[in-house]
Amino acid sequence: MRSFPSFRLHPVTRRGFVGALGALAASLRSAGAAAQTAPAAAIAPAGVDYYDELGVTKIINAAGTYTALTAACMPPEVVEAVRVAALHPVRLHDLQQKAGEYLAQRLRCEGAVVTCGASSAITLATAACLQAANPKLQITDMPQNLGTAKKQVIVQRAHRYGYDHAIFTPGARITEVLTMDDYKRACGAGDAVMTNFFNAAEDEIGPEGPAQIGREEWLRVAHDYGIPCHIDAAADMPPISNLWKYTGMGFDLVSFSGGKGIRGPQNAGVLLGKKRLTDLAHANNNPNDGVCRGMKVAKEQIVGMVAAVDWVLSHTEEQMQGNYQERADLIASTLRGLPGVRTETVTPHIANHVPHLLVRVDPAVSRVPASAVLTAVRAGTPSIELNPNSCRPANQGIPSDANTLVVGVWMLQPGEDRVVGRALRTALLGNSQPTKA
Ligand SMILES: *Cc1c(COP(=O)(O)O)cnc(C)c1O
Repeated sequence: MRSFPSFRLHPVTRRGFVGALGALAASLRSAGAAAQTAPAAAIAPAGVDYYDELGVTKIINAAGTYTALTAACMPPEVVEAVRVAALHPVRLHDLQQKAGEYLAQRLRCEGAVVTCGASSAITLATAACLQAANPKLQITDMPQNLGTAKKQVIVQRAHRYGYDHAIFTPGARITEVLTMDDYKRACGAGDAVMTNFFNAAEDEIGPEGPAQIGREEWLRVAHDYGIPCHIDAAADMPPISNLWKYTGMGFDLVSFSGGKGIRGPQNAGVLLGKKRLTDLAHANNNPNDGVCRGMKVAKEQIVGMVAAVDWVLSHTEEQMQGNYQERADLIASTLRGLPGVRTETVTPHIANHVPHLLVRVDPAVSRVPASAVLTAVRAGTPSIELNPNSCRPANQGIPSDANTLVVGVWMLQPGEDRVVGRALRTALLGNSQPTKA
């Protein structure tokens, strides 16, 4: 068993802290006078690298916006907006309301709520729809006092997923449907409060074959029965236009993750949609004593989310695709000529809609199998995480298999494409020497 390393603040940390206190005192002393420099600049201490302090290994993210890998890094503009917001208290409710109004206006919908991630957006969406369908239901009644209230959320079997838990949290239950007949029967049963559509699963293969009902049809039928539709588009920006596409189609509620392609704080997200429902979602949100009291979104995350949306909207679609293809090409060129190695680029249709490099390793020819390469680059210095679809069957629009490495290039920092290319080449050659940055 690994012993827990003891750690202490090293001298530079203490100096930084004392220096910051001195600067803070100085800025407080001059608070009455007309300051020549911004107070924020005067008290900004040198940051401590707590990953180093804590002994946490920094990785190269050649995977993508995966939650377990801390998803995206915020662009400098967003980090700066968070820093500025962190220095001032405000009234939380005021910030939530104004941020919502601003995002709704920028994202072309009636209402918006900054949530604690897309999963939390789904919980708020469900709570809002439970209340919309059961006018007597109080915020504090969920999940324990639903009694005979309507509580079904209709979902296609091929759209069932781990985030179903976000639907169960406020006390809702799922009615699973397969065919259009099932769907109409479930809609007509009179106990449904919402439908959930997993956007990236539209053409996904479920256990019983592909989902049978497409996005437009799904929406039309639910609306024929007066049932609000939520769509989970958590990982589905880029393209930027998806941020208003689904509300524009008529979906009543749409969830996006804030910390994925949008590059806001990892624990932020947005719920967009019809104002009567987003108002109910606001009411169920922290700090009110409802189901999302424990899904607090702090001022730093609310502002970070707003700044991240502004950052996204300052780009064209083309700019949003960055130089990802160039990065993939550069890594591919590093691997050219290796025996039994072929490369190709694939862009998933929906979700993570950016070029991914596939490295196909022929086990009969290559010195090293793909699975050993995956382990070797993870164990290297710096440690590299490839896309989790590596060496696994096709999934998430990525045609992988046991002998394929998947390189997600869009979360790489400048220059890391070279490092990843070199590390993969070294590992494929069976050379275990650590790769140097
Ligand atoms: C990532 C993801 C979520 C959860 O998003 P968080 O912001 O991490 O809460 C929900 N649904 C789908 C489809 C996702 O990809």
